[in-house]
Amino acid sequence: MDADVVIIGAGPNGLMLACELGLAGLAPVVLEALPGPAEEPKANGLLGQVVKLVERRGLYERIAGDPGPPRPTPSFPFAAMPLDLHRLDDNPVHTLAIPQPQLVRILADRAAELGARFRWGHAMTGLAQDADAVTVDVTGPDGPYRMAARYLAGADGGHSVTRKQCGIGFPGVSYDRSMLRWAHVSVPADRVDAATGGLDVPGYGIVPPFLAQRTEHGGFTYAPLPGRPPIIATTELDQPVTDAPMTLAELRDSIRRVLGADVPVGPPDGDGPHLLRRRVGGSNRRAERFRDGRVFLLGDAAHVDAAGGQGLNQGMQDAANLGWKLAAALRGDAPDGLLDTYDTERQLAARRVTMYAQALAALLAPGDDVTALRALFGELLGDRDTVRRLAGLTAGTDVRYDMGAPGPHPLTGYSAPDLDLRTGTGPVRLADLTRTARPLLLDLSGHGTLAAAMADWADRVDVLTATTTSDVTGLLLRPDCYVAWATSAPEPSEQDLAGLRDAAVRWFGVPVAGAVAP
Ligand SMILES: Cc1cc2nc3c(=O)[nH]c(=O)nc-3n(C[C@H](O)[C@H](O)[C@H](O)COP(=O)(O)OP(=O)(O)OC[C@H]3O[C@@H](n4cnc5c(N)ncnc54)[C@H](O)[C@@H]3O)c2cc1C
Repeated sequence: MDADVVIIGAGPNGLMLACELGLAGLAPVVLEALPGPAEEPKANGLLGQVVKLVERRGLYERIAGDPGPPRPTPSFPFAAMPLDLHRLDDNPVHTLAIPQPQLVRILADRAAELGARFRWGHAMTGLAQDADAVTVDVTGPDGPYRMAARYLAGADGGHSVTRKQCGIGFPGVSYDRSMLRWAHVSVPADRVDAATGGLDVPGYGIVPPFLAQRTEHGGFTYAPLPGRPPIIATTELDQPVTDAPMTLAELRDSIRRVLGADVPVGPPDGDGPHLLRRRVGGSNRRAERFRDGRVFLLGDAAHVDAAGGQGLNQGMQDAANLGWKLAAALRGDAPDGLLDTYDTERQLAARRVTMYAQALAALLAPGDDVTALRALFGELLGDRDTVRRLAGLTAGTDVRYDMGAPGPHPLTGYSAPDLDLRTGTGPVRLADLTRTARPLLLDLSGHGTLAAAMADWADRVDVLTATTTSDVTGLLLRPDCYVAWATSAPEPSEQDLAGLRDAAVRWFGVPVAGAVAP
C-alpha cells in the first residue's frame, strides 16, 4: 500500500483535507496535475462559517495577517440587497479577503508541515477499487505508473476525473446566457465617496463598496479590497461570445450598459498579477452521491454553484467533515456507518447552497416582476428574524446535522458557538482548544460529572472543565466542531450522562477499558 489516503487535486479543498488528515497523524499523498500550486485567480476570499473553521484550526493569522479573532461583517448583500447584520446580536456572517493563489500556497505549506507528501505534475488518469484498496493510474513527469491507497479523496474540481471514473452523475443546471466581466482597476480619486468609501457615479448615484447593484440591464459590483487595487465586476445576459482578449474598454462599455452611466476605469496601480477577465455562464450542479465505496468527492468535484462566495465555505467544510472520519476508519475505531454520514451531512449542506444560489439568480434577473418581488423582499428585510434567517443561509450556519438522539438540545447538530469560557487560569477561546482536530468535551457543569463520564474515552476525547456565563452546562464537540451532544441541566441527571455516553459511542466508537489520554 503506497498511502492510507490519496488526494486528487491540490486546490484549496484538497489541501484543507490534507491538513485535516495531517492533524490526525496521517501522511496523505496529494496528486496534482499542475507543476506547482495553482496560480489561477478565482476566489477573492472566504465567506461564512469557513472563517471560523480556519480560526479553529489556527490558520486565521496566516490567512488574514492579523491574530484575530475574526469579527462579523456589519452588512452583506443578499441578491444585491443589503442585509443589516449589525442588528443581530449573534451575527454569523464573517468574511476574510484573500486571493485564491495565496490561500493555496498557505494551505500547501501547512499541509507539508503536517506531513502531506506532494506529487506536483502527477495527474490521475484512472481508478479501480476492491474491498481493501483503491488502485490509481497516474501520469507523472517520468511517465505512467500505478499506486494503491486505502481511500481516495477526489478534490479535482468541477470537471472531476474522480467523479467521472466512478460513474457518479452531476445533475443540475448550467446557464450559458450570463457573462461575467471583472478586473482590477483604478478609479479617479474624486470618484470615491469620502463618507461611505463607495463609488460616486454621476447619473447613477453612490455605489456602496461590496454591495452589488442590480439594474434592468445586469449587475455591477465595486469591491475595494484592502491592500490591492479595487475590483469592478459586471454581469450581463446574452452578450456576444468572443475569444478576443478582454480589455478595460470592454469593461467600461459593459458598465455603461448596466448602470446607464460612465465610470472612467483605468489600469490598476502597483505590481501584478492583475485580473482582467470575462467568463460565460455558470452552473448549479451536485454529484448524485459524495461517496462510492472507498472513494469520496469534496469541493467543486462534489458541487458547483453559480453564487459567489460559497465554493470554499462548502468545500473546506467538506474537508473538515471528511478528515476525522477517514482517520477514525483507518485507526479502526470508527463506529458503524460513520463514513456514510459524510454523504448525508454534506449533501444536506450542499442542498442549502443550491437553494441559496437559485434564489439569488431569481432575485437578480431582469424584469418588472422581479423588481416587484425585490420590493417585497426589501420590506421583509426590515424584519430582524428574516435578516437572521438569510444571514444563517449566507454563512451556512443554519446547517443542522442529525446527531441521532431524540429531542436534541437547541445547539446539538450545529457548529459550536463561541462560548465565553473561563478556567482557573483565566479566559480560554474555543478556537485555541480545537486546533488539534480532536473530539472535545466541555464540562461547564461546575462539578466535573460530565468529565468523569468521559473517562473511558480518554484516548480519544479531550476534556476541558471550565465555567461560562451561558446557560449551557455541557458540550460534546466532534473534531469538525459540530455539537454532537449538549445539555443545559444545572445538575446532569443519569439520563443526561447516558445521552452523553451514547453520543460518544455514536461518533467516536465503543470505549476501551482503561483508556488513557495520549
Ligand atoms: C471567478 C471565480 C471567482 C470565485 N470566487 C469565489 C469566492 O470569492 N469565494 C469562494 O468561496 N469561492 C469562489 N469561487 C469558487 C472557488 O474558486 C472554487 O469553489 C474552488 O476553487 C474549489 O476548490 P477545489 O479545491 O474544490 O477545486 P479546484 O480549485 O478546481 O482545484 C482542483 C485541483 O485539482 C487538480 N486536478 C484536476 N484534475 C486532476 C487530476 N486528474 N489529477 C490530479 N490533479 C487534478 C487541478 O489542477 C486543480 O489544482 C470562485 C470561482 C471562480 C471561477
